[in-house]
Parts: sequence; C-alpha cells; structure tokens
Amino acid sequence: MAMRDAMLGAEVGDDVYGEDPTVNRLEAESAARLGKEAALFATSGTQANLLALLSHCQRGDEYITGDSAHNFLYEGGGGAALGGVQPHVLPVQPDGTLDLQQVEQTIKPDDYHFARTRLFCLENTIGGKVLPLAYLKEACSFAHSKGLATHLDGARIFNAAIALDCPAQDIAEHFDTVSFCLSKGLGAPAGSLLTGTKSLINRARRWRKLLGGGMRQSGILAAAGLYALDHQVERLAEDHRRAALLASGLANISTLSGKVVQATNMIFLDLEPNFFQSLSAKLIDDGVQCGDFPRLVCHLDIDDQAIEHAIAAFNKLLT
Ligand SMILES: *Cc1c(COP(=O)(O)O)cnc(C)c1O
Repeated sequence: MAMRDAMLGAEVGDDVYGEDPTVNRLEAESAARLGKEAALFATSGTQANLLALLSHCQRGDEYITGDSAHNFLYEGGGGAALGGVQPHVLPVQPDGTLDLQQVEQTIKPDDYHFARTRLFCLENTIGGKVLPLAYLKEACSFAHSKGLATHLDGARIFNAAIALDCPAQDIAEHFDTVSFCLSKGLGAPAGSLLTGTKSLINRARRWRKLLGGGMRQSGILAAAGLYALDHQVERLAEDHRRAALLASGLANISTLSGKVVQATNMIFLDLEPNFFQSLSAKLIDDGVQCGDFPRLVCHLDIDDQAIEHAIAAFNKLLT
C-alpha cells in the first residue's frame, strides 16, 4: 500500500522533454547508488540491456556473453533484430563466470573478414550465483585492455551486493554500463535502469525514444521505483535467508536429497523436467506456484509461513 501511495502522490511532468521531476530523481539516485555519471529509466530489463547493446555497438559488431545469459537467451534476439549486432556466446562456467582464456580466444583481430568484437557482458547474479569482486575486476580490466567496452546485466545487482556485503557501487565500478531491475525482487510494478557515462546515456536516450520507450508522465512508475530503492533493498537479505530455509527443508525430503541447490534468493531442483512439471501442476492446487522450470524463487510476497507451507506441500506429494 505504501508503494501505491507513493505512486498516487508522485509529482509528474513530461519525461520525453526531461521534465518529470520524479523520473529525474530516480535517474539521479540510481546513478549515485551505482557510482555512475548518469542513468536512464527504461520500460524493462530487456529494454535496458538492449539500449546498452545499441549504444555500445554498431551494425556488424559483436558482443561476448554467456550461453545462459539473459541478454543472449531471453531477450528475443533484440540486438540482432534491431541493431545488426551479433552475440558470440561462451559457456557459463559452474561458478557463473566466463573463462577469460576463452574470452581472449574469442576476440577477433582487426580484419575485415570478422565481425568487430566490441562489448563484453557479464550477469550478476546469474542463476542466483554471485560473481566475486576479484573476478569482476580481473575480467573487466582484461576486456578493457583489449579495447572492449563492458556491460553488466545487474538485474539482481542488489542481491549480489547483499550477498557480498558491499555497496552495489563496488560491483558496478568495473563496468562501463550497468542495468538493474526495479521489478522482480525489488517489488516495483515495472521499470529498469541503465547507468553509465553521460555520453553513453545520451545515446541510449535517443535509442529509447526510437524503441517507443519515451513514456511521458512516467513519474508514476518512477515513484514506485524510488520507494523500492528506499525501502526494499535491505530486505533482500530476508529472501536469501528464506531460500536457505526452504532449501534445507526440501533437502530433508528423501526424494530430493542431494538435488537441491540454493544460491541467494533461488533454489534449483535437479529433477527430470517431466517429473517436475507434473509435480508443479499438483503443487499449484496447494497454493504453491512454481511454473514449469525446476526453480523456486523467494521474493517480498513470500513470508516465513509460506516457506513452511511450501515445504509441507512438497513433503505431502513426495513421501
Ligand atoms: C528478468 C531479467 C532481465 C529483464 O527482464 P524484464 O522482464 O525485461 O524486465 C534481465 N536480466 C536478467 C538476469 C533477468 O533476470
């Protein structure tokens, strides 16, 4: 309700002319939190990542990213469809990193036979896993030394910051641009930000308009985002605590023993997809919504009681 009240009371203007004070405040606060010069309010995480691709790359360029990365797998191929930018994907390692030797082998020499390798992308958290600060530093300085720009899909950067017990800025500092989501774990109804230098964000603003993302009186949405940043970041630690509780409860069920992996706010179940789908279809009758993918996610609408309820529901079906 408090978030809805913030939206109701939002002071608005026309953001296409840069005149919405609430959007301006959200962009300034986002840039400050991530230690960047500027930020841009985007409609979604997909749009924020696409704005990064389009602003860093030109037609015929390529970006390096992971084979399970959101900006390769789950964003409709937007960079290729709209920017003529191709992905070069590398296998994401079990710890969520990309192997820097493989990255080095992937970077194309300056030769007109090849696409121009332009951008190196990471995601943190990825599949709930936190990439260590030392790796981020090493990976980005390596990419920069090869003349690449760097982008972080930080949809869940605040989960990573909580897990690392550091300001989000310490994660963001290694990257030229960082996107993050106000939706999902932070609990706003919509919206993401792209942060970076002033000149890159100016380019992104042009692309956002072209993509139909100039939203006029979007202060109503920005107010929800500001509320989320002010009140719903620290509580992500609760999601991590509850995910650990749920994981240990599930791991005690003999069918699931050794098949439960928890990372930050997520739990992955190593089960046959068909088996999980039929299980999921039965769990929903008990009010436990999992979807078809064997992953459980804790968020601000899941309290301790819901965790107990979920463990009991799994127990009932599996024993
Ligand atoms: C959800 C998500 C996005 C963007 O999602 P939208 O649904 O477009 O807001 C980007 N990256 C990651 C890692 C995500 O989980």
